[in-house]
Amino acid sequence: MITRFAPSPTGPLHLGHAYSALTVWKVAAEHHGTALLRIEDTDSTRVRPKYEANIYEDLAWLGLQWPTPVRRQSDHTSDYDAVLARLDEDGLTYPCGCTRRQIINAGAVSGADGMVYPGTCSARRMDSAAPIDGIRLNVQKALQYITTDLRYTEAGGSQPKEIQILPETIIKTIGDPILRRKDTGDPSYHLACVHDDALQNITQVVRGKDLEGLTPIHVLLQKLLGYPTPIYHHHDLVLDDTGKRLAKIDHSKALSKYRDEGCTPGDIRQMIGFTG
Ligand code: GLU
Repeated sequence: MITRFAPSPTGPLHLGHAYSALTVWKVAAEHHGTALLRIEDTDSTRVRPKYEANIYEDLAWLGLQWPTPVRRQSDHTSDYDAVLARLDEDGLTYPCGCTRRQIINAGAVSGADGMVYPGTCSARRMDSAAPIDGIRLNVQKALQYITTDLRYTEAGGSQPKEIQILPETIIKTIGDPILRRKDTGDPSYHLACVHDDALQNITQVVRGKDLEGLTPIHVLLQKLLGYPTPIYHHHDLVLDDTGKRLAKIDHSKALSKYRDEGCTPGDIRQMIGFTG
């Protein structure tokens, strides 16, 4: 069993991250498995070295350990280019230079991954791509490629459950996701995450319920690329409605701030209601 904690160094870790990391390591321990740390630093406009340094420091302070070397996605951009090229060759991608404003003006509704792209550029051919264009997956075409059911096992509840993914769900709630970001050419989270989960032989993805809505697109990408689908365990969030006693904590306060104020890792566990 191999799982991973995959933070993006775009800001300091806060209590929600602590809960997530502790859950990843707890699930790994329950399975006598391994928890990897992966740095998802593909968004070059938002990533900062100090936040990456914070991640190592905060996790070590919480008492967590991970095998090294750690995979840093920014060291492997050519891997993601190669994965994207495979989808391009299958005719499943199109270039898109739409700005957020244009997407909103085209009547986009909000979905699981920000705006559901209304398909404005979907008829564009890849040979019309400008260097600054983004690249999207054509979900309608991609779904025609898939001959088996899209499904995954959800292990986050009291019993594992088989989740069937309906094609309409992907079309309606996510739409055509970005694979390469416009302007920077950075690989998208979806592409890099799906590739790395396969490369690192992740058998169980443990992450927050806030990302559950994106799992259908990850499963679709896994099928298109011939990658196995891991088990998913979407854990509750610290902000869980039922966690009334958590209501008074400051969710956006950096973990390092609590540390500087003299909190112990035990205090953090108690504050976020983490048991185990
Ligand atoms: N890098 C993502 C984040 O920080 C998490 C990705 C994942 O666990 O799949 O939100």
